Amino acid sequence: VIEGKDITKNFQVGGAPVCVLKEISLKVQRGEFVSVMGESGSGKSTLLYILGGLDSPTGGSVYIDGTDISKLDDRKMSEMRRRKIGFVFQFYNLIANLNVEENIMLPLLLDGCKMWDYRERLEEILEVVGLKDRRKHTPRELSGGQQQRVAIARSLIGRPEILFADEPTGNLDSKTGAEIMGLLQDINKNDGQTIIMVTHSPEAAKSSSRIITVKDGAIL
Ligand code: ATP
Ligand code: MG
Repeated sequence: VIEGKDITKNFQVGGAPVCVLKEISLKVQRGEFVSVMGESGSGKSTLLYILGGLDSPTGGSVYIDGTDISKLDDRKMSEMRRRKIGFVFQFYNLIANLNVEENIMLPLLLDGCKMWDYRERLEEILEVVGLKDRRKHTPRELSGGQQQRVAIARSLIGRPEILFADEPTGNLDSKTGAEIMGLLQDINKNDGQTIIMVTHSPEAAKSSSRIITVKDGAIL
């Protein structure tokens, strides 16, 4: 369960504060698939980053399974990120000189895990995203949709409880986008994965069980 209470975010720009989020409160239950929609600049990405602990709010709190994440020290926070949180970014953010397997395993390797101990998990996740026959390819040897699937696999490898996705289909054609959405739906249905996804696509939002609309930094 993830809960935001009165989340406010101000940025200082040229000495003047710009209010981007205005006392946003929301609760997402375990296993929900939520879409966040709204105009460009309305604050969706900022909200997603704050809920996922990648950015901190100016005011208000984020609770993940009852824990106020702002109260965690660095070690506890990275443990929380590792165990509970997966992120998929709009521009994939894959490492160009690592192959598919290495990119997927990266979070675990950085965390000191041995590739060998996770070989079964790797096989499983390669199967889920349909990239078993592309495992030695580097990102530029993959299509956009395949790269996005690598990013999704990477976000899921450590079995996070909550998956945050910022426009996961934003750069894909509608057919590939539909494939990615099908994949997210499967993960949500089969594994009970909680998903919070920012999207501009009404088509993509149909895959989710609830739509939250953000306008001018507030929830409509
Ligand atoms: P899009 O659909 O275009 O991705 P968004 O809803 O995700 O838009 P955000 O990226 O959350 O929008 O940005 C919301 C507002 O906050 C924007 O008006 C932007 O100018 C401002 N903003 C975001 N990040 C910063 C920052 N680091 N410093 C100053 N202002 C920022
Ligand atoms: Mg955005």
